[in-house]
Amino acid sequence: MTTTVNAYAAPAAGAPLAPTTVPRRAVGPNDVLIEIRYSGICHSDIHQARDEWRPGNFPMVPGHEIVGVVSAAGEAVTRHKVGDRVGVGCFVDSCRKCEACLAGLEQYCRNGTATYNDTGADGTPAYGGYSTHIVVDADYVLAVPESIDYAGAAPLLCAGITLYSPLRHWGAGPGKRVAIVGMGGLGHVGVKLAHAMGAEVTVLSQTLSKKDDGLRLGADDFHATSDPQTFRELAGRFDLIVNTVSADLDLDAYLRLLRIDGTMVNLGLPSEASSVRLSSLIGGRKSLAGSMIGGIAETQEMLDFCAEHQIAAEVELISADRINEAYERVLSSDVRYRFVIDATSF
Ligand code: ZN
Ligand code: ZN
Repeated sequence: MTTTVNAYAAPAAGAPLAPTTVPRRAVGPNDVLIEIRYSGICHSDIHQARDEWRPGNFPMVPGHEIVGVVSAAGEAVTRHKVGDRVGVGCFVDSCRKCEACLAGLEQYCRNGTATYNDTGADGTPAYGGYSTHIVVDADYVLAVPESIDYAGAAPLLCAGITLYSPLRHWGAGPGKRVAIVGMGGLGHVGVKLAHAMGAEVTVLSQTLSKKDDGLRLGADDFHATSDPQTFRELAGRFDLIVNTVSADLDLDAYLRLLRIDGTMVNLGLPSEASSVRLSSLIGGRKSLAGSMIGGIAETQEMLDFCAEHQIAAEVELISADRINEAYERVLSSDVRYRFVIDATSF
């Protein structure tokens, strides 16, 4: 039986979010019903609620950094049981048979279902985590170890895996010099993860205002990109540069900071096309790459890694009535480092 649950939604593109109710489907044989405890605010929630990427589905309930407790499970569910602490990230379904799905790279499936602003295989709208409950196919639900801070675990489901996957793919570890560009919701988790993997970590931030935090979270070095001296001093230094910034950067300047065979991987989506001089790649056999979240198995691996290394996001906990204010503060980089909504306030 479909149930109706409390949520916060943007009624139309760019409109402030407001309390509402949305339907949740009946718990099917392979579904779990999750009572949400914490829901993170991702910058992409703001882009989508304001129609900055493509025309969205409204009313829109954003939220793809979800942690909570299983409160019901279908009869075929074996992965999770009632009472388990679980999480849901950026997608809630995929085709399960394409090359991407078979390789455990479900995030690149062309027939997947995003957690919100999408339509499920049954034709109903997908509503996200700014809500008290959600029903999700158990195969797309992660186990969140009890040892991770509860509220701080929520952002791991998007910010965490967005950083973990490229750090692993490009071999961040002992003997590797990794630069994290941007010290925000994504970047601060990247610093913790890269440090825990054993890499030498440098933060490249616009100013030095977050230097103390950066060093405290595990960075070995911290430089301001507003200082031209940074680009002279660090030339040829890094094996891997992970760019978490969505703004248009001078990619050539950053590529000069790579060693031979180094890679610069981009996680943010600037609204305009980027330009790069190919000489920046050719002179040093360098790569310019992109990466998007991670697959289900890798997301579980990330959560287990975070439990082992006591990693969670640094969060500011808010009640739902402060979502619109939080959106403005995210846009002015006035959060250290991720807003998380207490789901009891929906
Ligand atoms: Zn996100
Ligand atoms: Zn697929």
